[in-house]
Amino acid sequence: MILVLDTSLNSQQQNDLCLRLQTRGFFTRLVNQYGQLIVSVEGPKSSVIEHELASWQGVKKVVGDDNPYYLSSRDCLSGNSIVEVGGHEIKFGSNEIISIAGPCAIETEEVALEIAHQVKEAGCRIFRSMIFKPRSSPYSFQGLGRAGIPILQKIRQQTGLKILTEVRDPIEAELVLDHVDMLQVGARNMSNFQLLKYLGQINRPVLLKRGMGASIEELLCAAEYLISHGNTEVILCERGIRSFDRYTRFCFDIAAVPALKQLSHLPVVVDPSHACGKSSLVGPLTLASVAAGADGVMLETHVSPEKAYSDGTQSINPEELIDILHKGRKIAATLGRTLK
Ligand code: PEP
Ligand code: MN
Repeated sequence: MILVLDTSLNSQQQNDLCLRLQTRGFFTRLVNQYGQLIVSVEGPKSSVIEHELASWQGVKKVVGDDNPYYLSSRDCLSGNSIVEVGGHEIKFGSNEIISIAGPCAIETEEVALEIAHQVKEAGCRIFRSMIFKPRSSPYSFQGLGRAGIPILQKIRQQTGLKILTEVRDPIEAELVLDHVDMLQVGARNMSNFQLLKYLGQINRPVLLKRGMGASIEELLCAAEYLISHGNTEVILCERGIRSFDRYTRFCFDIAAVPALKQLSHLPVVVDPSHACGKSSLVGPLTLASVAAGADGVMLETHVSPEKAYSDGTQSINPEELIDILHKGRKIAATLGRTLK
């Protein structure tokens, strides 16, 4: 349950209110988000006290457990959240659709730099720079680990591209924090609530990928963990969900894009590469996503997809990247947007 408080309450009054709840057995946490003073109330059974709370002095609104993602929702913020990455130039959620490209994983310095230069040339501004790879098999390439950090630094220095990297736990987040502009929570960690709570307390935008078996509501609840723990710089990512059909790797849920935009003020990015698993389908899905209102696209790109250590079959080459972005820009323009 959430209480939206009157912002005119002074800190003594706020604390008194929290104490009153605590003596009734509730855990409380005060957060100040989107210009609203919020108390999150975790309790034994909140419905017992819900009605009573509405009449407490200073309580403007009681958001019951039937709305588990209030802070992520348009009820909380009717306009779009703008999430800036690495300064003021890149704004997710604005009129500009942002392109992110790069390999599945950083393999060697030489290849990573080659891809990064091509990605920059194609007009993208954020580089997928994964050094910690969550893999289904323990025998698959697990990423370079911390040895990859100097490569991220070089890419940043040489190309000016902003760096996106995945972290699977707080230790990895600590290691990379100073060298990256944006962190990714992968599909397999969308429900790693301890990680979400930790990333809620750091000062970096988070690209939060939908779990492959997660509902739209569960994705928004995961975003709620980040926001309610202090980090409003959250970007949602549709990356495909499991279906019975094995022709594509996952089933790209295109409806999730407008649905998330309707339910939430957070920017929505798509990852057609992991969704479909086939490079020949990445272009059409990217264009469909732009038409559906996505705020960003993430495209796995490699100079030699056939030699990629991982996900080569779904990786496009730089020429294909240029072609997809060119077509995407035309669709974006018809919607009064740009794609960069
Ligand atoms: C990735 O983007 O590197 C990745 C592993 O994707 P997902 O978590 O969506 O499987
Ligand atoms: Mn991949």
